[in-house]
Amino acid sequence: MIKKSVFILVLIGTLMVIAGIIYWIFGGIEVKLVGENEINVTYKSDYNDEGFKITKYDNEVSEKRYRYETKSNVDTNILGEYETVYYIKYFLKTYELKRIVHVVDNVEPEITTNIESIEKDYCTKKVLSKDLEYNAIDNYDGDVTDKVTKEENEEGVILTVTDNNGNVGTKNILYTYTEKPKDKFTLNGSSTMYVAKGSKFSDPGTTYKDGCGVKMDVKVSTSGSVDTSKNGDYKITYTANDLTVTRKVTVYTPSTNTGGSVSGKVIYLTFDDGPGSYTERVLNTLNKYGVKATFFVTHQFGSYVNLIKKEYEQGHSVAVHSYTHNWNIYKSVDAYVNDFNKMNADIEKYTGSKSKIFRFPGGSSNTVSKSYAKGVVKAIASRMTSEGYQYFDWDVDSGDAAGASRSKIYSNVVNGVKNCSKCIVLMHDIKSNTVNELDNILRELTSKGYKFGTLNVNSPTVHHKIAN
Ligand SMILES: [Zn+2]
Repeated sequence: MIKKSVFILVLIGTLMVIAGIIYWIFGGIEVKLVGENEINVTYKSDYNDEGFKITKYDNEVSEKRYRYETKSNVDTNILGEYETVYYIKYFLKTYELKRIVHVVDNVEPEITTNIESIEKDYCTKKVLSKDLEYNAIDNYDGDVTDKVTKEENEEGVILTVTDNNGNVGTKNILYTYTEKPKDKFTLNGSSTMYVAKGSKFSDPGTTYKDGCGVKMDVKVSTSGSVDTSKNGDYKITYTANDLTVTRKVTVYTPSTNTGGSVSGKVIYLTFDDGPGSYTERVLNTLNKYGVKATFFVTHQFGSYVNLIKKEYEQGHSVAVHSYTHNWNIYKSVDAYVNDFNKMNADIEKYTGSKSKIFRFPGGSSNTVSKSYAKGVVKAIASRMTSEGYQYFDWDVDSGDAAGASRSKIYSNVVNGVKNCSKCIVLMHDIKSNTVNELDNILRELTSKGYKFGTLNVNSPTVHHKIAN
């Protein structure tokens, strides 16, 4: 009895020990893959499996306690489904872990462009940069440039390309803009105006444009005023959006054009060789004294030719001098007439009609023409007069073409008009001495009460003796 019960006890004890050992070995054991059981691997990439992990109550089991084998057929050079399997022996037990591996093309095609942004002009929105060029390469499909689609919106161009496996590549090329040009605030009319005393001054105002040249309605504040009952210089200042422009207005007493000792005499001031850079000053000075003159014009200073319009609009006579003012116009009658007609076409463009009067370069008595063609001036004069044109020389020479000083020009003119018969005064609006002295000359002549006239085809002529 005792033997049997001892045996049972020993047996129970042994079973408990075995159970204890089994529990000690396998209790709390977990065998798991590291990472997901099913994964995607990029085509042509290096594939390294993350492996597995054995834990016992969350503590990693030493590698000494198990052995394992791996089988894997993964080939990242070919798209498809593969598997990696681990066979793990832990004591007497074998665990099998399997990971499904998909080799996939999950790389989007790459678009490259010749420019990274498209520059546009702020105002015109015109494209300034090179034309956009692009190509697209896919890791699996190769060159997919043909498949690129181009879409435009306000911000730029969006290039999109989808490869055969549905991967989408995009590239945004944004628009950039040049800097916004500054606003422009300008005077209407001249910056220097002359107003006759007692007349009404009407302000031509200003124009405000944004940097792109679009007229803007902005608030303009004006300071200063003109008292036309009092001679003097007045200043008007206009301000809009921090921009300021100023106009000078001179109130003057106009010449009365009457006078005892000089009554009956008419002075024809003539200005040759312009329009040029001084012509506007000449016009302002003439305006200041209310004097009208005659301009024998040229096309020598191209950017000023449009001043012919102003000469005409201010009541002066505009007449032909020469388009080129080159002596070789005297090589033949035709050469002269061609040059003459070109100038008269300019005059027509700015005044609405051709002029019937002219002045020979060098005057009708010039001898320079001799070295170009014998008798040419005579031939020109007879042809032109037969066609109804009239030419004018002069009987008062300011001397400015020969380089006279200001005081000499003054005395030549002021003394010259005392003794002239027709009083056609030769001056040049391209000579600074003349332009600088003109105010003094006009002050003197107007204060003496001379009358001034402009030349037309019926005016009294002064003709020198034709020398060739
Ligand atoms: Zn000339």
